[in-house]
Amino acid sequence: MTRPRSAIVIGSGFGGLALAIRLQSAGIATTVVEGRDGPGGRAYVWRDQGHVFDAGPTVITDPDSLRELWALSGQDMARDVTLLPVSPFYRLLWADGRQFDYVGDSAGLEAQIAAFDPADVEGYHRFHDYAEAVYREGYLRLGTVPFLDFRQMLQAAPALVRLEAYRSVHSLVARFIRDPHLRQAFSFHTLLVGGNPFSTSAIYALIHALERRGGVWFAQGGTNRLVAGMVALFERLGGTLRLNAPVARIETEGARATGVALASGERIAADMVASNADVMHSYRDLLAGTRRGRTKAAILGRQRWSMSLFVVHFGLDRIPEGLAHHTVLFGPRYRELVNEIFRGPALPEDFSLYLHSPSVTDPSLAPPGMSTHYALAPVPHLGRAAVDWAAEGPAYADRILAALEERVIPGLHDHLRVRRIFTPADFAGELNAHHGSAFSVEPILAQSAWFRPHNRDRTFRNLYIVGAGTHPGAGIPGVVGSAKATAGVMLSDAGIGR
Ligand SMILES: Cc1cc2nc3c(=O)[nH]c(=O)nc-3n(C[C@H](O)[C@H](O)[C@H](O)COP(=O)(O)OP(=O)(O)OC[C@H]3O[C@@H](n4cnc5c(N)ncnc54)[C@H](O)[C@@H]3O)c2cc1C
Repeated sequence: MTRPRSAIVIGSGFGGLALAIRLQSAGIATTVVEGRDGPGGRAYVWRDQGHVFDAGPTVITDPDSLRELWALSGQDMARDVTLLPVSPFYRLLWADGRQFDYVGDSAGLEAQIAAFDPADVEGYHRFHDYAEAVYREGYLRLGTVPFLDFRQMLQAAPALVRLEAYRSVHSLVARFIRDPHLRQAFSFHTLLVGGNPFSTSAIYALIHALERRGGVWFAQGGTNRLVAGMVALFERLGGTLRLNAPVARIETEGARATGVALASGERIAADMVASNADVMHSYRDLLAGTRRGRTKAAILGRQRWSMSLFVVHFGLDRIPEGLAHHTVLFGPRYRELVNEIFRGPALPEDFSLYLHSPSVTDPSLAPPGMSTHYALAPVPHLGRAAVDWAAEGPAYADRILAALEERVIPGLHDHLRVRRIFTPADFAGELNAHHGSAFSVEPILAQSAWFRPHNRDRTFRNLYIVGAGTHPGAGIPGVVGSAKATAGVMLSDAGIGR
């Protein structure tokens, strides 16, 4: 067979774009086909009355993994994207009025910890050492390994056992840290990648090391500028992005994928096909006519899926005082609330919120003197709680805005100019996300590495998966890592060294 020279990537999320850049940089003529009218997937953007509303990711960590995409072709990310440092990384607020500024420098962080419990400073150091160890093992060494073969899992097993990967993040943190507030402060991060702190593998403590080492950043102009920068790089390299091009079917012949059929009826042929679309959608819908599609969809249907999110975006005609860029507002319950979010069976009465206030770092996201925000609440996915979001969404948004007014933005309603909501039903309808999950397959140990959907399909040998549904998982560093793993396999299959 001749060497593969062309590829199609279905979907333009961070994983799809990063993969497309890697393929195109290696000389594979790559076309990205995106169903929506703009790129970015969960990092889509809306603009309304001068407010720029980034739909999803706002916390940029491990900027080097992004810079690497430009460096592949000898380019500099700074040409397309400016990253601004964010400090504090997060402000955490509890219902009892306590506050913790999660800062990046050691002395500042220790002072914050000591204000809760001086004895926990020592415990924090031990937690940090642990986070460093899992970062080296779980992120640097295993994060971009495509776990195609169970032998790779066996090779990784001793390290995973040594690091007690079978424990949960929260139990690990609790071993080192006593104060209940601080236990939350060092365990909530798994929620940012769709994991329950009480059941996600302690490996995910690596997020702490990732933040401490590389910092927390924000793209000037918003995350949408980072997406636009990746698209600009991809197109400069000669790649093609087609928007408004939903794929209806992955075409196959025997054990090979031959291209895609768009909903419009158009067919595009390619030597290799990679899907960045939701992994259940890819198998259940795009491979609907095949036995492989049916069997894999049945397996995925039995897996645990991450929670969903309810997001309310809003613009104010003023800039509230004293806000941090990233604020986490914990509700009165932690473990019980998280369990209800992950298990259902209904929408919990209370919520914990993440408030994004990008105008703090970059005023250009709102008209002069005004501000742009979003607040999100983790909520059960549609398979866990059958909420009628069209009916309940607006009232839920009202409750969230009222809580923000009471706790952090006095006078919010008097200054509200514009608002929009994005619900689990939108994740399902606009992004083809199974159960409206915000983060795909839940990142528990039994669904990680080799146990996660593989970067290359087992039956169709030139069909690949990239993004949150494959190894290593959700979050920008995760999906950009998945692109590196998937590109490694594709280029090796194409006879091109990595
Ligand atoms: C509200 C929110 C906040 C978040 N915050 C952060 C954060 O601060 N930091 C962080 O690192 N991560 C964050 N995340 C997680 C992160 O955004 C995601 O894990 C990541 O962006 C997912 O990327 P992906 O490559 O899997 O693709 P996705 O973003 O899921 O994109 C998939 C693309 O495929 C397209 N598609 C689907 N079906 C088809 C089809 N049939 N034909 C053509 N195209 C199709 C979709 O339209 C979409 O564009 C957040 C997520 C959400 C939802």
